[in-house]
Amino acid sequence: MKEISKGQWISQDQWDKYIHHFSPIEFSEDPLKYSDFQTIKNLESFRSSISRRIFPSPASGALARFSSSKRSQHYVGSDMGGDIRGEVDTNTSKKSQAVDVFIEGNALINWSFVLACQLFKGVGIYLDTEYHYRPWPMFHLDTREKGYMSGALIWVRYREEYYYPQLNDSDRLAVRGIFRSCILLKENIFKR
Ligand SMILES: [Zn+2]
Repeated sequence: MKEISKGQWISQDQWDKYIHHFSPIEFSEDPLKYSDFQTIKNLESFRSSISRRIFPSPASGALARFSSSKRSQHYVGSDMGGDIRGEVDTNTSKKSQAVDVFIEGNALINWSFVLACQLFKGVGIYLDTEYHYRPWPMFHLDTREKGYMSGALIWVRYREEYYYPQLNDSDRLAVRGIFRSCILLKENIFKR
């Protein structure tokens, strides 16, 4: 099998051959045009191993963003300098290496499984998101080059604030508090 290189775009034939649990039309932007193939392959591997349904977020920018910060793993552009909007050359541009998804089942169990699989170097859990007007934690998954130490960079979003528990003590404490209070209050954010 030919090695798949970073930043490679996906043909429909490759999609049909390697990606069995997702269809391109499920994503907010066309992954055949804008996704890094390895990222979608890792999502497919993750989906196969977790054996739970995964729903790509329908929100605009959940796969590819054209005018966001160039540091975003969702960013797509034909160069990393100019401000790109709209049309991009799909053969030469930087592809999105991230996707935002909803995973069936208990979010804390899903989160630990995401981390255990080591398929993603950036993993965010969003505890303040909705899917079709119902609260449901969302996951950001990306295949950035470098995560945190030898694993993934992790963050938690809660009430629109971002917390990076690996990076400082106050965020670590905050995340512990968030998880404890959500569990104690039986806030229904971990279940779907
Ligand atoms: Zn994201």
